[in-house]
Amino acid sequence: MRKLADRIERLHESQTIAMARLSRELQDQGHNIISLSLGEPDFDTPKYIGDAAKKAIDDGFTKYPPISGYADVREAISQKLKRENNLDYKASQIVVSTGAKQCIANAVLCCVNPGDEVLVPTPYWVSYSQIIQLAGGVPIYLNTTIDSDFKVTPQQVEKAITSKTRMFIFSSPCNPTGTVYSHDELKALAAVFAKHENIFVLSDEIYEYINFVGKHHSIASFEELKNQVIIINGVSKGYAMTGWRIGYMAAPQDVATACDKMQGQFTSAASSIAQKAAKAAISISTPDRDMMVETFRKRRDLVLNLMKDIPGWKTNTPEGAFYVFPDISYYFGKTDGSTVINNPEDMCMYLLKDAKVALVTGEAFGDNQCIRFSYATSDKLLTEAIARIKVSLAKLK
Ligand code: PMP
Ligand code: GLU
Repeated sequence: MRKLADRIERLHESQTIAMARLSRELQDQGHNIISLSLGEPDFDTPKYIGDAAKKAIDDGFTKYPPISGYADVREAISQKLKRENNLDYKASQIVVSTGAKQCIANAVLCCVNPGDEVLVPTPYWVSYSQIIQLAGGVPIYLNTTIDSDFKVTPQQVEKAITSKTRMFIFSSPCNPTGTVYSHDELKALAAVFAKHENIFVLSDEIYEYINFVGKHHSIASFEELKNQVIIINGVSKGYAMTGWRIGYMAAPQDVATACDKMQGQFTSAASSIAQKAAKAAISISTPDRDMMVETFRKRRDLVLNLMKDIPGWKTNTPEGAFYVFPDISYYFGKTDGSTVINNPEDMCMYLLKDAKVALVTGEAFGDNQCIRFSYATSDKLLTEAIARIKVSLAKLK
C-alpha cells in the first residue's frame, strides 16, 4: 500500500471540522440534526464589509498583494491596536494571513525547533497541538479544571518551564471554555515569562470582542513582556467573516519578518479582496458588532439557564467566546441499555445518534471530562437542542 509522508500520517484531522462534516452528511441523508459543533457566528457579514469587497474588485485590487498584506490594511490594524488596545505596533510588525489559523501556523513554524517544548494549558483550541507537532515541537500540557474556571496559574507555568521551553500558547477569551483572564491574572503570568526572554507567548485574541465582562486585556500590554508576545487576531469571529479567511499577527519585528518569508513560500498573501473588506470591518464603526456580541451574551444566559436543571451537567460561567464546556463525567459508566458512556467521545456519539444534536468531544481539546457546545445559533435551535439532550440523558441509567 502506498504511503504518504510521515508528517501527514501523524497529523490528526481537526475534530471540530470532522464533526461538522459528519453532521452535514447526516443532514443530507434527511436526519434533523442540530449542529452545535463548529464555532462559527450564524450572522451574515455586515453589509458595509461586503460593499468594501465589491469596491475592491471595481478598483482593481485583484493582483498579488504584498506578502504580509497591503500597506493600508496593515496601517489600519496598527491603528486599531493603538486605538482599542493602547498597543504600539508599526505596520511592519503586522502580518496579514489566510485566517488566524495560518497566523498561528506561521508563528509556530518560525519560532519552534524540533524538540522544543511548547506549554499549552488544557483545554486548548484543537489546532494548537497539531500545529506544534507538525513543527516537530513537543506540546507540554498544563491541566486546568472547571473548579478553577479552567485557568492556568503562574505557579503551574513556572514549574513546567525547562531549558527546552520555547513557547506558551493560550487563548483568552478561550475556545473551548469561554474563560477570560483578568488584567491581574495576565500580569502574574507575564511576570513569569518576562524572566525567560527566550520564551515566546502566543496570545490568541480571536475572540477579543466576544467578551461579556468588559474590556479586553492583552498580555502584550505588559511592557516587560512585549518583545516576547505574538498577538493573533482576525475578523472571523468578531465580524462574522469566517469565510473571508483574514487573520493577522502583531509581533516583534524579527518574528514578523520571518513569517513574511514563510508565507512568501506557502500562500504568497491573503486574498486581496478579503483584505480590503477586513480593513473596512476594523476601521469603520457601526452598531453591527455590538449587536452580535449582545446577542451572544443573551444566548449564553439562555443556555446556562436551560442547562441548570440537567442532572450531572456541570458548567463554569463562560465570560466570552460562544461555547459552553460542560463536565459530563457524571454519566460515565451509565447506559441506555445498548450504548455505554465511558468518555466524552461516547457521549457525543450518543447525543448525535439519540438526540440528533452534534457537539464536539472534549478530547479534541485535550480534556477527558467535558464536551463542547457552541451557542452560535438561534434561540429556537438552542432551546430545541437542550430539550432533546435532556430527553436523551434521562434514558441513561
Ligand atoms: N483560534 C481560535 C481560538 C479559534 O477558535 C479559531 C476559529 N477557527 C481560530 C484561531 C482560527 O480562526 P480563523 O477562522 O481566522 O482561521
Ligand atoms: N474555531 C472554530 C471551532 O473551534 C472553527 C473550526 C476550526 O477552525 O477548527 O469550531
